[in-house]
Amino acid sequence: DSAPAPADCIFCRIIAGEIPSDQVHADDRVVAFRDLQPQAPVHVLVVPREHTADVRELATADPTLLPHLVAVASQIAAELADGDFRLVFNTGAAAGQTVMHTHAHVLAGTDQHESTT
Ligand code: 5GP
Ligand code: ZN
Repeated sequence: DSAPAPADCIFCRIIAGEIPSDQVHADDRVVAFRDLQPQAPVHVLVVPREHTADVRELATADPTLLPHLVAVASQIAAELADGDFRLVFNTGAAAGQTVMHTHAHVLAGTDQHESTT
């Protein structure tokens, strides 16, 4: 199991509908919404509803969620771009993670290979 979510977690607040987002997918396990500062023509964050800090913690807490997350990313890239995509998990502050609620960046569309997110 995962630790309780911090009360001020911005992605928990987005999932709860307390902060608006441009949502492109939602199901019982994940939500996906467009990044506020897109670094590719399609830049979507796929976010597990249950709070974990990062993908290391998620892999332990709920390993079956990972293939589902990849399937959702594939579906988003097919619907919003040409189907090809990068899937990026910044994991830990030293790796550039700024929001400490597990999320995958889906980067797709022309020039998505230029981004280092
Ligand atoms: P990280 O560096 O933690 O992997 O990336 C966090 C991402 O979340 C950044 O790309 C940032 O633009 C995005 N982000 C931060 N706050 C918000 C927000 O309130 N709404 C949305 N849609 N994206 C956000
Ligand atoms: Zn959270």
